Amino acid sequence: MATISCPECAATIEVAEDVMIGEIVDCIDCGQELEIISVDGANIQARIAESEGEDFGE
Ligand SMILES: [Zn+2]
Repeated sequence: MATISCPECAATIEVAEDVMIGEIVDCIDCGQELEIISVDGANIQARIAESEGEDFGE
């Protein structure tokens, strides 16, 4: 497993090592949706997902 830090609450969140850029991960602590923005080996970064107001359609 790899880990990321929640930008909202700084919790450490485990993610799959083969996580893909653009994947959405829920923070286990605050529930914030996080978008994976960078994957460089085990160095994975995420930001708060900006899903509010967006409609991806169905
Ligand atoms: Zn959090």
